[in-house]
Amino acid sequence: MTAIVIDGVDIAGKIRKTVSNGVKQLAHHNGIRPGLATILVGNNFASEAYVNSKRKACDEVGIEYFGHNLPDDVSEIELYELVNELNFDSRVHGILVQLPLPDHINSEKILEAININKDVDGFHPNNIGKLGMKNRTPLFVPCTPSGCMMLLEENSINISGSKTVVLGRSNIVGLPVGMLLLNKDATVTFCHSKTKDLPNICREADILIAAVGIPEIVKGDWIKPGSSVIDVGINNTWISHDDDREFTCSSSEKTFIAHYQSLSDKGNRRIIGYLCENSGDVYSSENLPKDIDKNGLVKLVRKNKLVGDVHFDEAKLVAGYLTPVPGGVGPMTIAVLLQNTYNSAKLMYS
Ligand code: NDP
Repeated sequence: MTAIVIDGVDIAGKIRKTVSNGVKQLAHHNGIRPGLATILVGNNFASEAYVNSKRKACDEVGIEYFGHNLPDDVSEIELYELVNELNFDSRVHGILVQLPLPDHINSEKILEAININKDVDGFHPNNIGKLGMKNRTPLFVPCTPSGCMMLLEENSINISGSKTVVLGRSNIVGLPVGMLLLNKDATVTFCHSKTKDLPNICREADILIAAVGIPEIVKGDWIKPGSSVIDVGINNTWISHDDDREFTCSSSEKTFIAHYQSLSDKGNRRIIGYLCENSGDVYSSENLPKDIDKNGLVKLVRKNKLVGDVHFDEAKLVAGYLTPVPGGVGPMTIAVLLQNTYNSAKLMYS
């Protein structure tokens, strides 16, 4: 058996097209342009990449984008005030605070400060609370879980009455996706870091949702033959290279493995650090002095590969349906964010 690979890019593309058409209609009939504001605190590499892809996606469908970048040491009250300002900005129909926030900021407080009518990420306790209650309808549903449901529904995968296992119970993915499945009458088992005998529990699942953040933890023999497997995990692993070497940061004594960019072959590479050829000093990409002359530096890189929480090649031989990484859940997350922002704008003027 070979699983049907669910094409998240294609399904997300259809959603984007619908949003793009809707945005044009709103402009034409109501003179309104939906707007999304994102708030990024600090310069976390992954968060910057996520925010950038959201900006690009907004541009593509005609949603106005307001990007706010705040320094790492911004105070909680400053961040709170910005959220509040955006709550009252009539050009903004959706507010997204990129998580995780630095430790000195109480994420719960900030997420609660977002006007529920602009909570396009769906993380406000009011929205999450309604998701967990019978016969209540949240205004917005978190994007990734909603995207998972669409992937199942688009492929006519039967949810009602199915045995469903969700690996992970985070507020962002595991918990809400489990609640959505429960609302569709699945029998849901949540697993987490303290769960015993994970493989046997997974083997019972007609639908398996993996949202753990451990590369390829789900092996082929954890999967029930013919079942549907949705891999939410996005894990950046690196591929070892013949020219890999260990470098020690001059200032912090921390070591990392990388190779010179000039020796690396082409592909998806990530800069890990820099070597100053004159002094022999090594810097990690996080502690590169701001005033240093970059011309005198050699880039130290690693070759990257994105993998999911499911061992794709093994799972493909057993599952009935399977999402790839990349190209499965990831594109859906952004498509649903665009859809939520568009819906928010529509709701405000209906
Ligand atoms: P979190 O780290 O917040 O949660 C991970 C969950 O996995 C926790 O509930 C944790 O349990 C559980 N867990 C950890 N180790 C194990 C284990 N050995 N066995 C079983 N369960 C375990 O991660 P997120 O939910 O934010 O993200 C999960 C993955 O999904 C990540 O790879 C992330 O990058 C990806 N992601 C992808 C998105 C997309 O658009 N495709 C969007 C958001 C996330 P416990 O609660 O006990 O700690």
